[in-house]
Amino acid sequence: FVNSIDEFFSFCKENEVEFVDLRFTDIKGAWHHLTYRMSAVNAENLEAGFPFDGSSIEAWQPINKSDMLLKPDVPTAFMDPFTADPTIIVFCDIYDIYKGELYEKCPRSIAKKALAHADEIGIADAAYFGPENEFFIFDDVKFVDNINEAGYKVDSSEGEWNSNTDFEDLNTAHRPGTKGGYFPVQPTDSMVDMRAEMMQVLEQVGLEVVLGHHEVAQAQGEIGIVFSDIIGAADNVQKYKYVVKMIAHLNGKTATFMPKPLYGDNGNGMHTHQSLWKDGKNLFYKEGEYGNLSETALHYIGGIFKHARAVAAFTNASTNSYKRLIPGFEAPSILTYSSQNRSASCRIPYGAGEKATRIEMRFPDSTACPYLAFAAMMMAGLDGIKNKDIPIGPMDEDLFELTLDEIREKKIPQMPHTLRGSLEALIRDNDFLKPVFSQVFIDTYQSYKFERDVWPDEGRPTAYEFKTTYQ
Ligand code: GLU
Ligand code: MG
Ligand code: MG
Repeated sequence: FVNSIDEFFSFCKENEVEFVDLRFTDIKGAWHHLTYRMSAVNAENLEAGFPFDGSSIEAWQPINKSDMLLKPDVPTAFMDPFTADPTIIVFCDIYDIYKGELYEKCPRSIAKKALAHADEIGIADAAYFGPENEFFIFDDVKFVDNINEAGYKVDSSEGEWNSNTDFEDLNTAHRPGTKGGYFPVQPTDSMVDMRAEMMQVLEQVGLEVVLGHHEVAQAQGEIGIVFSDIIGAADNVQKYKYVVKMIAHLNGKTATFMPKPLYGDNGNGMHTHQSLWKDGKNLFYKEGEYGNLSETALHYIGGIFKHARAVAAFTNASTNSYKRLIPGFEAPSILTYSSQNRSASCRIPYGAGEKATRIEMRFPDSTACPYLAFAAMMMAGLDGIKNKDIPIGPMDEDLFELTLDEIREKKIPQMPHTLRGSLEALIRDNDFLKPVFSQVFIDTYQSYKFERDVWPDEGRPTAYEFKTTYQ
């Protein structure tokens, strides 16, 4: 790993690098790349940036102002573990040549600005984030005409029995089945070697891997990564998704981070652990308080809950996201906090000491652009610290047991139930983002999401409706 442009070139020489792969993230979180010959890369263009067509990336530039620059963040360079020829990958920020500054629609630049903002207002000089991205490994997903209870038939790599008449499908031995994945040994867990391969390659690309395990749903997995600063953690999500998808692909499978691919089984979360620090001190720690949480931590949670409906537009960024946020699947819908409790939106990991005390927001999922999701949560949390917001809680009971009447009586706010709900909340409630997210960006984001996700989904009949509609 390299710290300077000089080191970059000596590293490339040592490793006989043939290609420099420049990568950047769009507003929906997708990674894009373009590949330069090593001989075409020099200190000047590494410094000045590389041109690309900003009008061909969704929701970015108009065609008549399309020239943009990719600015490599050289210390992020690492070798691509998958290419046939030695290729070095570098994270890039987007530079707006017309304004002469970082591009207002570049998610990675927005996250950088959010961290700088926390420092400027004197609250924190460091923010640590620990995302947990869950995934499924599928053989394939088929839509067939014998529609089951879910409205479709899914063959997972651990194939739960579905209403198929093929005799071999009736053999459910050594299959985890619904919610049976946590965590029997092989052969029920059929993903051991694939996860091992993923963990090894994740280390090669610079992530600190702690553990891997089968998750609760059939065919579901998770790999635990050490937290990082806000930018590093979001960069790690991009690397993690790349490696998990590529290893699955090379094994003839498909990995998906979709929040709720299987009806009736657990979905995929991106729980996000967070803490703010200043002068080397964890601002979230106060010994002896509930969960060892300081007032600052409570205000931070309070801010996230107050703005959660708008924040969800970034943390739960797909129409599918809201199918996960229903009671009974370890994914939260109720905005309260609790130590240990996995039915609350915010869990305080039990018994953590001074360094490790943190909050775990449980509602985000991997359809979020990680840079935007982390920045939005942090901006909401900082707003909560400024306004001394107090969250409802702690609530240690099983919140999935609460009836709708009880939720109303206790005045507990809930997550939105649709992406439309989140985007409409974002339109009403975005002042807390303003120091960092420009109005142009917020407007672009919400109209892009309506056009790309909400309207096509709302207007599209589903297989399940054919079963339930009285026609
Ligand atoms: N898969 C669950 C979710 O959708 C979380 C399970 C866990 O606690 O790790 O959030
Ligand atoms: Mg998990
Ligand atoms: Mg978790």
